[in-house]
Amino acid sequence: MPERAAALVAETRSVDETRGLAAALADLARPGDLVLLAGDLGAGKTAFAQGFGRGLGVTEQITSPTFTLAQEYEGRLRMHHLDVYRLDQLRDVAGLGLAELLDDGGVVLIEWGDSILPALPSDFLEVRLTFGPGDDDRHVGLRATGPSWQGRTRVLGEAVEPYVLHKGAGGADASAGGAAC
Ligand code: ADP
Ligand code: MG
Repeated sequence: MPERAAALVAETRSVDETRGLAAALADLARPGDLVLLAGDLGAGKTAFAQGFGRGLGVTEQITSPTFTLAQEYEGRLRMHHLDVYRLDQLRDVAGLGLAELLDDGGVVLIEWGDSILPALPSDFLEVRLTFGPGDDDRHVGLRATGPSWQGRTRVLGEAVEPYVLHKGAGGADASAGGAAC
């Protein structure tokens, strides 16, 4: 089992906030980074990828790769955006050429990446989006697994700081965010 770091949980209240959070995280991206996007349909995985791409300076429109499986965008770093929802078999992952994608100097984002964990390297950032109490509320859990992202725990915390609710601070109502989800 890979060593696991403590998770961070942020909250967003609109799709633009989720994109903004993702763009802030993109500033930390390095060549060869792997980001897993987990969460149910409609949770905001593609929205996160759109913000991440914007943060990397991608100007092309980023759309869901559910049917194309993989899409490539040019930015400060190249971004490979994958969606493995339609992969029936774990062995089909081999056809994605993941090792090559991770090795070409860009970053790789995989929607539903948590469903192919055994086929992935053990060094990644997992972003788990879950529905919050309101229609446009989302919880965004971040978990650094492996040395590369764990070494960035402090800057990760700083990047998401504006999106973390502080109990009792400045009128932010942490009790609402703490509701069961
Ligand atoms: P997924 O890729 O996880 O299936 P999408 O990103 O395609 O999800 O869709 C998320 C949907 O939820 C979009 O229609 C988006 O506008 C909406 N939405 C509402 N609030 C949020 C939020 N806080 N974060 C992300 N998406 C949100
Ligand atoms: Mg999607």
